[in-house]
Amino acid sequence: MSWHVLGAGSLGTLWATRLARVGLPVRLILRDRQRLTAFAQAGGLTLVEQGQVQRHAIGAELADAETPIQRLLLACKAYDAEAAILEVLPRLQPDAEILLLQNGLGSQDAVARHLPTQRCLFLSSTEGAFRQADFQVVFAGAGHTWLGDPQDASPPACLADLQAADIPHQWSPDILGRLWRKLALNCALNPLTVLHDCRNGGLHEHADEVAGLCQELSELLQQCGQAAAAEQLHEEVLRVIDATAANYSSMHQDVTQGRRTEISYLLGYACTAARQQDLHLPRLEALLQRLRAHLAKRGLPLD
Ligand code: NAP
Repeated sequence: MSWHVLGAGSLGTLWATRLARVGLPVRLILRDRQRLTAFAQAGGLTLVEQGQVQRHAIGAELADAETPIQRLLLACKAYDAEAAILEVLPRLQPDAEILLLQNGLGSQDAVARHLPTQRCLFLSSTEGAFRQADFQVVFAGAGHTWLGDPQDASPPACLADLQAADIPHQWSPDILGRLWRKLALNCALNPLTVLHDCRNGGLHEHADEVAGLCQELSELLQQCGQAAAAEQLHEEVLRVIDATAANYSSMHQDVTQGRRTEISYLLGYACTAARQQDLHLPRLEALLQRLRAHLAKRGLPLD
C-alpha cells in the first residue's frame, strides 16, 4: 500500500526517507508548483544521519493530483493541519488511515471533524530532526513515537510498515493521556524559556514560577479527565530541566529564528480548556498574556 507524506519538512522528510529506503512506495505532497520545481532541482530528499548523507529520489506531486490516497502522513505544523487536509479531502479513500504528527492538542480534532469514515491516528514523538537546507534534514535525536486512536483501540495495518522501516514506535491505548502530559510539560517549560530568554537549565532560577504552573496544570489535567497524566508532573518537569539543561526549547528556537509558534495548540489550548471547565488558573492565564505580548513585540503571530 502506498504512503503519501504531506509536508517535506523535518519530520516529513525523516519519515519519508526511512519508509522509502526499505522499498515501501512513498509519494510526497508539496505545497505548490514552485516547491515542486525546487524539489526536482534538489534531486530528492536528503537525510543526514550520524554524519552519513543519503539522498533518496522520491516522487512528488501537488494536493490536487488525481490518484487516491489510502495512507497519509500529515507532517505539517499544527496550524496548517486543517487547511492541508481540506486540500486532499477529495482524494482520501473512505477507509484511509491518516497519521497526525502534530504536537499539542486541538489540530487533531479539527482534522478529524472532516473525516467521518477514515481512521485518524494521533501520534506523539520524541524524535528530533531539523532542516539544514531545503529538502535536506538532519536526524538530530533518536526517540520514540507513540500512536493511538481515541475511537478504536485495535492496532492499524500501517504498524507493519513502521516495523519494516525500523521506526521505533508503540501502539498506545491512551494516546490522549500521552498528548496531554506532553502538552503540560511544554506549558510548564517552553513559554518561560522564551520570556526569560534562557536555556532549559536556566529555569532553576525561576523555581517558584515553575512550581506554581505545575500546580495549575495538574488541576487542569484532573478536571479534564486526565488524572494519570497529572501524576508527579512537577517532579517530571524538574527531571526534564536537568536532563535538557543545555538545550534551548523548541519554542525558544522558533521565536529567536522569527518563526511562528504552535502556541494555540499548547498553552493557548490549555487556557481555553480551563475556561471551558470554569476553572480559574491565574498563573497560566497570565503566562499566556505575557507570551502573546512578547510575540507581538517581535511581530510574530499571536495564534
Ligand atoms: P516543518 O519542518 O516546519 O515542516 C512542515 C512542512 O509542512 C513544511 O515543509 C511545509 O511546507 C509543509 N506544509 C505545510 N502546509 C502544507 C500544505 N498545505 N501542503 C504541503 N505541505 C505543507 O515542521 P516539523 O518540525 O516537521 O514539525 C511537524 C510537526 O511535528 C509539528 O507539529 C511539530 O511540533 C512536531 N514535532 C516536530 C519535531 C522535530 O524534531 N522537528 C519533533 C516532535 C514533534 P513549506 O516547506 O513549503 O513551508
